[in-house]
Amino acid sequence: MSILIKGGRVITAADDYVGDVLVEGERISLIGESLDVEADRVIDASGKYLLPGCVDPHTHLDMPFGGTVTADDFESGHTAAAFGGTTTHVDFCIQPPGTSFGEALSMWHAKREGKAIIDNGFHIAITDLHDGGSLEELASLPEQGITSYKLFMAYKGALMVDDDTLYRAMEVAAQSGALVMVHAENGDVIDILVREALEAGHTEPLYHALTRPPEVEGEATNRAIQLAHLAGAPLYVVHVTCREAVEPIAAARVKGWRVWGETCTQYFFNSLEDIAKPDFEGAKYVYSPPVRDKSNWDVLWNAVRSDALSAISTDHCAFTWAEQKHMGRDDFSKIPNGGPGLENRLHMIHHFGVREGRITLNRMVELLATNPAKLFGLYPRKGTIAVGSDGDIVVFDPDKPYLVTAEGQHSRSDYNLYEGTEVVGTPELVLRRGEIIVEGGELTARPGSGQFIRRARFGEELRATAPVA
Ligand SMILES: [Zn+2]
Repeated sequence: MSILIKGGRVITAADDYVGDVLVEGERISLIGESLDVEADRVIDASGKYLLPGCVDPHTHLDMPFGGTVTADDFESGHTAAAFGGTTTHVDFCIQPPGTSFGEALSMWHAKREGKAIIDNGFHIAITDLHDGGSLEELASLPEQGITSYKLFMAYKGALMVDDDTLYRAMEVAAQSGALVMVHAENGDVIDILVREALEAGHTEPLYHALTRPPEVEGEATNRAIQLAHLAGAPLYVVHVTCREAVEPIAAARVKGWRVWGETCTQYFFNSLEDIAKPDFEGAKYVYSPPVRDKSNWDVLWNAVRSDALSAISTDHCAFTWAEQKHMGRDDFSKIPNGGPGLENRLHMIHHFGVREGRITLNRMVELLATNPAKLFGLYPRKGTIAVGSDGDIVVFDPDKPYLVTAEGQHSRSDYNLYEGTEVVGTPELVLRRGEIIVEGGELTARPGSGQFIRRARFGEELRATAPVA
């Protein structure tokens, strides 16, 4: 199968030109002006952008959490991602305490089996290096294409690790070629603040945010940076929300330390006003780290513009409000943490970032595709439009209005964090490895057609293998 996309405006992190792109089999084979070649299918993309398929480095599909399981499995999550122009993601395989990493990975591979529509890799989330998971096994994971280790410095009594485990994982990563990722909030202090709030009779969702103040994020971010530097490991701080966390990351980067940070779409648009909404509606905005004061929106836009922060993910971790969020109706600490977002990252960042003049088109591609691909061992196979790269392309109509609603989304969540927002610009057609997966408002790919991607070690490139004949 060959597809020739003619006359689109090709946008990568570096380039912006009008050209034709030929995809043969799974890969891009030719790019040029007015290509005179035969193809099985010709697509007229004049007036449209051709963007690399977006890469989401932070999602939670089919994940057990707080006595329930996230609402989206790999099929519904991938459908939402595909409609939003995301063709690759890296999900978190969470090690259940007491099990080996191999057992955990088998469980997560089974979750995507027969359901995957877009391509994905896995990060390993380390919860326990005492029973089950060993340092030796951890060191061997990059050989299986698992080249990032995630550690939670929060969620005491559930996912949180102590500094002993954090530091030993960093030492392993420094040797094995993995990137260390941290959820940076001080879980011990949050635990005290939550108990104090509940004892004082505060049960409403707003107290989720008030018991996780910016200082606990800033402290944990700085601690992780210092420890990673000491261990000699590269560090990626996930979901940065506020000035207190941006500043230590920016300072480390100025010193030339191997530290990167990401923020997520929702932190540019949601705030304390949302989580304070009455009648338990605030529970829709319960995720961690929490929504912040609106003054942080500009802090984050400046950070992604200046490369203090280098990627925007979704932290898609969908629950239903009507049922799952209500588990915490009488106690904010029992509200499942997380929100949906896989489908609307490109819509929101294109409209409010690019159209409103906060970032350039090239920078948008860098934040949503190229940098995540480079940091997580997927580039240049993913994250750009180039000869030899996978045929992951979004034909994006920059002038078409789109209304963001829960009703129109493909996630199984029953709400949307940006409900009723009108944006201009939406994906029209999406290719994943040379196959059209969304066209004319329909999903055209078969569940099970998505591939597991063995990622390269940190700092190494991933080249596409020749397509299977
Ligand atoms: Zn997360």
